[in-house]
Amino acid sequence: MSGWRSLPAGAAVLRPGSTADNITGTWRVVRPVIDQERCIRCGICWMYCPDSAILELKREYTTRGGKRYEVTYEVDYDHCKGCGICANECPVKAIEVVLEAK
Ligand code: SF4
Ligand code: SF4
Repeated sequence: MSGWRSLPAGAAVLRPGSTADNITGTWRVVRPVIDQERCIRCGICWMYCPDSAILELKREYTTRGGKRYEVTYEVDYDHCKGCGICANECPVKAIEVVLEAK
């Protein structure tokens, strides 16, 4: 995978289907963090993310209160650009946007 600094001028896609090969998350200044305890697995963040940077994983998760889910949503930080749409759309405010640690 290559970083965004090695992209061609205008970030033109010269090879169809190749954008996932580019690590574009490094230009991010803030990052979304999902609170797995609060998340209700509605999938809205996954549907709204313009970069397909929310991953829907077939991984079980049981909350401290005993609620069991069969999927877990995680952020693909290699491709998330920190736009905050996911946090804005989450109906239960389970996504916090925090400053990137440098
Ligand atoms: S901050 Fe933007 S790019 Fe990153 S996961 Fe959320 S919606 Fe996707
Ligand atoms: S929108 Fe919020 S509640 Fe829904 S899956 Fe994403 S983080 Fe979880």
